[in-house]
Amino acid sequence: MFLPENVSICIRALEQAGFSAYAVGGCVRDALLGLSPHDYDLCTNALPEETARVFEAYPLVRSGEKHGTIGVVMDGEVIEITTFRTEGGYQDSRHPDWVRFVSGLEEDLSRRDFTVNAMAYNPKTGYVDPFGGQADLENKILRTVGDPAVRFTEDPLRILRGVRFAVRFGLTPEAKTEREMTALSHRMDKLAKERVFDELCKLLPAVTAPELQRFAPVLTAVIPELKPAVGFLQHTPHHAYDVFTHTSLVVEGVGEDLALRWAALLHDAGKPGSFTMDENGRGHFKGHAHLSGEIAEAVLHRLKAPNALREEVVLLIKHHMTPLEPDKRILRRRLGQYGIETVQKMLTLQKADFAGKGVKDSDPQFSQVEALLEEILAEEACFSLKDLAINGQDLIKLGFEPGPNMGACLSKLLEQVQDEKIPNEKEALLNAALLLKGD
Ligand code: ATP
Ligand code: MG
Repeated sequence: MFLPENVSICIRALEQAGFSAYAVGGCVRDALLGLSPHDYDLCTNALPEETARVFEAYPLVRSGEKHGTIGVVMDGEVIEITTFRTEGGYQDSRHPDWVRFVSGLEEDLSRRDFTVNAMAYNPKTGYVDPFGGQADLENKILRTVGDPAVRFTEDPLRILRGVRFAVRFGLTPEAKTEREMTALSHRMDKLAKERVFDELCKLLPAVTAPELQRFAPVLTAVIPELKPAVGFLQHTPHHAYDVFTHTSLVVEGVGEDLALRWAALLHDAGKPGSFTMDENGRGHFKGHAHLSGEIAEAVLHRLKAPNALREEVVLLIKHHMTPLEPDKRILRRRLGQYGIETVQKMLTLQKADFAGKGVKDSDPQFSQVEALLEEILAEEACFSLKDLAINGQDLIKLGFEPGPNMGACLSKLLEQVQDEKIPNEKEALLNAALLLKGD
């Protein structure tokens, strides 16, 4: 396994001081998958104060010391070095209730959640993999370290973490692990909302439609507002699928933007609550966009989402049934109201919504809207004569005769600026004007 220079230095420094040290957890898993780890965590049998002494020449981050972690700042990066430990439950906080330092690596690995996260590496000993994480990675299996019922009860957030690792690395939960994920999902209601929200934000951008279906029991345990959507038949020629199947397709269809993912997930949450059936047996969902927006507001409020994200998501949902018409005047007004980024997101959500119907429906003219938006933006980007950094007065000073020639010269200069042949700066423009005068 490749280790960056600063990580190798940390391992060697601890070893030279008589301790053992390993790269551990996510970085080992990522390296085995051929991905480049976003950070490297180390574990060691040195106690936190011993680690601090080994690295006394470096700036240290000591905020995690209680839980055994010393951060060493080296080459502008923080390398977290954590003493081998076991830990108690997390109750409702972000940190374990208690930690106990232990002397053995294996005991440290055994507290970790999944086999693929419970591997360590040291250049001398190679991989340390007591729970078969490497084989599980190869076979694309997600499996808890030890009995899933015990591990998910200790910290129910591991259920959501499991969904995250499954969707991020294309792993399938082993049967008992998956059974307990569902069976114990109700335990997640005791978790700190911030932990749940963070986890959902990490998994949402990566999840596919079939995965949303598969993990619906887990997701609806933390977002019960989505439960009525699962299997809810729409009884309309506009939709081939039930509300949650359609929702899954829209989530996958909107790309990776977080606000769009949340908006897609909740955009039809209000459908079951606004459903009516007419005398012909046809379903209608009048006002569902507004109701879905209200539900999203409540969900994101409960999960303590940042205000800006919540507001953006609610706006996208409340407007998801308002067509963006292929009309320049109307589009300009929308751009003025919401800004280009939001308008583009509105369009993306509407396109994914349309594509997720599973039936052919009348063309909502998305491509015309896109073309017009592009035209409007192009018009705004290109400026006019009055924006040029020189004017007629400057040309007269250069010896131009007032008249049509001067206008023609200014137009040519504007063209050159628009073609990015010269910058829109006085000096460059005056020089270019002199050249034109000589022509
Ligand atoms: P990422 O690439 O998303 O950071 P990661 O595996 O590094 O993935 P972290 O949340 O940073 O995930 O946790 C680091 C390691 O700590 C994990 O690989 C796992 O071994 C262990 N771990 C983290 N949270 C828990 C938990 N709630 N229960 C058990 N082990 C955990
Ligand atoms: Mg990590």
